[in-house]
Amino acid sequence: MPDIVVIGGGITGAAAADALAREGHAVTLIEKSAIAAMASGWTLGGVRQSGRDPAELPLAREAVAIWAGLTDMLGTDVEYRRKGNLRLARTPAEVDVIRALVASQQTQGLDLEFLPDNAAVRAIAPAISPSVLAASFCPTDGHANPIKATQAFAQSARRHRATIREGVAARAIRVAHERVTGVETDIGFIAADRIIVAAGVNAPELLQPLGLDLPLSIKVVCVVQSEPLPPCFDQVFGVANADCAGRQEVDGRLRYTGGLDEWRGDPAQWTTDLLAPSANEVRNVVGLVAHVLPVARETPISRTWGGLIDLTPDALPVIDSPDSVAGLVVAAGFSGHGFCLGPVSGLLCADLALGRAPRLDLCAFRLGRFGERPMAPTELTLHG
Ligand SMILES: Cc1cc2nc3c(=O)[nH]c(=O)nc-3n(C[C@H](O)[C@H](O)[C@H](O)COP(=O)(O)OP(=O)(O)OC[C@H]3O[C@@H](n4cnc5c(N)ncnc54)[C@H](O)[C@@H]3O)c2cc1C
Repeated sequence: MPDIVVIGGGITGAAAADALAREGHAVTLIEKSAIAAMASGWTLGGVRQSGRDPAELPLAREAVAIWAGLTDMLGTDVEYRRKGNLRLARTPAEVDVIRALVASQQTQGLDLEFLPDNAAVRAIAPAISPSVLAASFCPTDGHANPIKATQAFAQSARRHRATIREGVAARAIRVAHERVTGVETDIGFIAADRIIVAAGVNAPELLQPLGLDLPLSIKVVCVVQSEPLPPCFDQVFGVANADCAGRQEVDGRLRYTGGLDEWRGDPAQWTTDLLAPSANEVRNVVGLVAHVLPVARETPISRTWGGLIDLTPDALPVIDSPDSVAGLVVAAGFSGHGFCLGPVSGLLCADLALGRAPRLDLCAFRLGRFGERPMAPTELTLHG
């Protein structure tokens, strides 16, 4: 019997499997499709601390420290680049938002600078448009290759004797005497005394039969990838109201996104076609991005896709082992910023699965918080 089953082969589940396998535990990861098939493949790939909720900042800082050594740790180049994050202001109102963000995050000890005018922004990133008024700059933020990083965690877990089963879906989590006993899958029952649910937008349907409510609103984001062009932009950029973000990948392609739109489909039934952005949506995103990064308008597009976001009511994830079901760990609802956190989310999942005190404070990430007080849905105001 495996000690632990991980459900979901995104960066959260793959990093958890790796952390547990490194400690010598028998781990089986089941992934219904392929490693990095969903958010961890759709993502922009920003690795940032700036713009984080104060509760999440310690996790992001710890994650960034791990990212620095990840290529060595995993034995695969994950294309991590620490060249900073620029959050751009396009209007006087956005200048106020960015100035306030810098002031508040400086008090939390983050190395974040306010660039007060266009010359200061373009001294760091000459490709940015002359129309941008100001920006925040966090030099220790960066970006990485999401598919390579997620696959590298899975490969490393395998090297440490984890079993990685792609194309195997969890159907139901079995519980007896308030303790998990295993997972029903489409290839049969897998017994386990600890189960980590890292199933992204599909986590609620696995939790709900156990009486656990993870309230997610599902959003969709349009992503555009260009043909490669010579190096012109090192950082990741975002904007004050999160309606676009982007970066240049190591192979020269621009990879950029629009803002969040409602997605009213069933997360169990999504298909690539259902998520595909329309020509109008793509045109809109190109326009938003070209307004701040003009080279985007001239660069041919090679691929577009839609990515789902698992947004919780307070835009913070759940990383918890609920009291009512012993042996269960939930790590989901990363609300559009869980790629950066992946390496630390994996370690936190390992702590919880092994019954240890988590290495970082997880009070803000309890599953039970949603039932305790009314929460108005949070609009994401910062990403990228
Ligand atoms: C367009 C876009 C841009 C983003 N930009 C950023 C960014 O710049 N920086 C950042 O930090 N984050 C960003 N994010 C968010 C980030 O990508 C996610 O928070 C992160 O990848 C979540 O990882 P995960 O492993 O929790 O979930 P996922 O990657 O979604 O993995 C869940 C996995 O579970 C599998 N699964 C589901 N149900 C089952 C089942 N029943 N049985 C077995 N397997 C199952 C799925 O197939 C999937 O592979 C972005 C997201 C999107 C969509």
